Amino acid sequence: MMRQYELVERVQKYKPDANEALLNKAYVYAMQKHGQQKRASGDPYISHPLEVAAILTDMRLDESTIAVALLHDTIEDTSATRAEIDELFGEDIGALVEGLTKIKKLDLVSKKAKQAENLRKLLLAISDDVRVLLVKLADRLHNMRTLDHMSAEKRARISEETMDIYAPLAGRMGMQDMREELEDLSFRHINPEAYEAVTRKLHELSERNEGLIRKIEAELGDLLVANGLVSASVKGRQKKPYSVFRKMQSKSLSFEQLSDVYAFRIIVDDIPSCYRALGIVHTRWRVVPGRFKDYISTPKQNDYQSIHTTIVGPSRQRIELQIRSMRMHEIAEYGIAAHALYKDKEPVDGDRPPPASNAYALLRRTIESLAEGDSPEEFLEHTKLELFQDQVFCFTPKGQLITLPRGATPIDFAYAVHTNVGDTCVGAKINGRIMPLVTRLTNGDEVEIIRSGIQVPPPAWEEIVVTGKARAAIRRATRAAIRKQYSGLGYRILERTFDRAGKSFSRDGLKPVLHRLGQKDVEDAIAAVGRGELSSLDVLRAVFPDHQDERVTVKPSADDGWFNMRSAAGMVFKIPGRTKQQLEAAGQMGPDALPIRGLSGDAGVRFSEGGAVPGDRIVGIMERDTGITIYPIQSPALQKFDDEPDRWIDVRWDLDEANSTRFMARVMINALNEPGTLAEVTQVIATSDVNIRSMSMARVATDFTEVHIDLEVWDLRQLNQLMGQLRDLQSVSTVDRVFV
Ligand code: MN
Repeated sequence: MMRQYELVERVQKYKPDANEALLNKAYVYAMQKHGQQKRASGDPYISHPLEVAAILTDMRLDESTIAVALLHDTIEDTSATRAEIDELFGEDIGALVEGLTKIKKLDLVSKKAKQAENLRKLLLAISDDVRVLLVKLADRLHNMRTLDHMSAEKRARISEETMDIYAPLAGRMGMQDMREELEDLSFRHINPEAYEAVTRKLHELSERNEGLIRKIEAELGDLLVANGLVSASVKGRQKKPYSVFRKMQSKSLSFEQLSDVYAFRIIVDDIPSCYRALGIVHTRWRVVPGRFKDYISTPKQNDYQSIHTTIVGPSRQRIELQIRSMRMHEIAEYGIAAHALYKDKEPVDGDRPPPASNAYALLRRTIESLAEGDSPEEFLEHTKLELFQDQVFCFTPKGQLITLPRGATPIDFAYAVHTNVGDTCVGAKINGRIMPLVTRLTNGDEVEIIRSGIQVPPPAWEEIVVTGKARAAIRRATRAAIRKQYSGLGYRILERTFDRAGKSFSRDGLKPVLHRLGQKDVEDAIAAVGRGELSSLDVLRAVFPDHQDERVTVKPSADDGWFNMRSAAGMVFKIPGRTKQQLEAAGQMGPDALPIRGLSGDAGVRFSEGGAVPGDRIVGIMERDTGITIYPIQSPALQKFDDEPDRWIDVRWDLDEANSTRFMARVMINALNEPGTLAEVTQVIATSDVNIRSMSMARVATDFTEVHIDLEVWDLRQLNQLMGQLRDLQSVSTVDRVFV
């Protein structure tokens, strides 16, 4: 296992001014956090982050990336937190470690092939810092190297994922060596027989052709030196098993038919030397037509540059040649990581990790260009960057990936999981914190939906959501809920109407008369009564045509200031006379009056404009299409219904101790028009635990002001108490309830 000073030395070798303190701190922290944890192999867990860091030192990455490598599993697997890492190492490193934690969750879900595409997109979308991907690739490489201790099933899954996603990604990032190693390691587990066969053949070939590579290297090298390229170096190698296998597959060739199993690389000083070397080689050996590619004048998207050509070489062997400068070689080997080496020349001061440098900005652009894909073999070929810039990728607590359009809320998320989850959603935790349901989700968010059994989605949600699925479901649920409320109300009204007529109401009794009532089915008819579209009396008359209802009468008996009114259903109401009188809230309530509870959001029942509070004597008026409106019996608005007794419904309050709904009441205060009056009034209201819903003022005389206030109170007692307190104020002359 690599020691602390060895790691520091490795970094200092290519970056002499590296921040040693940061490396030491990260080493010690990771060591402490992973403590006694073991890997599947039985090795101490810490050996893994250390190896990952070592791989990245081979790519000569800066010390903050190395620190991230050391810390990369701490949030996921130990007691470490993002906050702690932020504090110790700065937010830059904290964000990178968290990014890796998010990708790690993906490993759990990506076994489903259909999620592979989403995974690719996500990888790109959340990697706004390319260092996350570099560390992830190194992490994956080390895991692949040590895969043998895993179960067969796990090995296969991880290998497939590596082959599908991480190896092509490494290629796209220009890291050919890493790509090849990842491919070969995966190949070994995915297709052991083929791997075995190809490896054996390659081995036989290299035994048969022992010394051939050295021989060609020497011959090529001598030729170049003789022609003036004295510093040229030539390196030959046998191709890797997977790249041989892929060629056999794609060209349907047997191993024996494969011609170019050997590849040679010529490295020279600069670009002019590359073309000179090409000329020398082409003059000396025969060129295989159609194999020449100039990636120097036209670099690949991942910045890869080289000249490719195939010749029939010294031993009549086909030889693939790559010609490049040292600079191009660095990029071909380390890919975008190599840019850091060339662009990060400024010294780093103090403890601060280097800010995202130009090199990384360049790398980010490279990542973005990854998504555009330029050749059929390149992954993401069909995926344009724009395609997923308008998407966000989120997770359920179990790690399931949910793809949503940008701007989506937890409500959209809930409906995307399941309609039931959406319908019963009452709240959401985003990354472990309770957040408002209007929160816009961002990439990588983990969303936990809080549900309730009795919730109906509020119609207002329709305005908040962005997905069609959520919108349609909310509309459907709202319609169903409203219908249910109307039919509940309609049923109660019908029961009472039939009761008073001495008949009994049943759904079956309605069936024969549906046609006459113009209704499709029984439930429609009942809901129509609830909505006020159909009079309960008409239903009664339809079901019992012989029923003689008492004639409806309105008898003024002005002697006590009240009018007696008999409703169509036989109830007698006392309503106040035209001259306003102060009257006690009295009068017997019908024992079978319709119970009224709190009404927040209740379709079917609403209050008149002036409001009513528990304790008020109330009456209901059936409104066409909207159900019942509740009025205090003193409301002058009731006069206009005098001639329509069949719209009157007897209602009563039905609230228990646990009631948590406030009710609106309007009051009018006549007060002295002097500074501080309003402050006094609102002060008294506030200290009485009463809410002010709205308030308006009008100066009626130079020295008096009328203040109209809509108050929200628990009940009549509280309201009366408050009105008394207001009257006691020096500056207040009158306080009256306003009935509309
Ligand atoms: Mn790891």
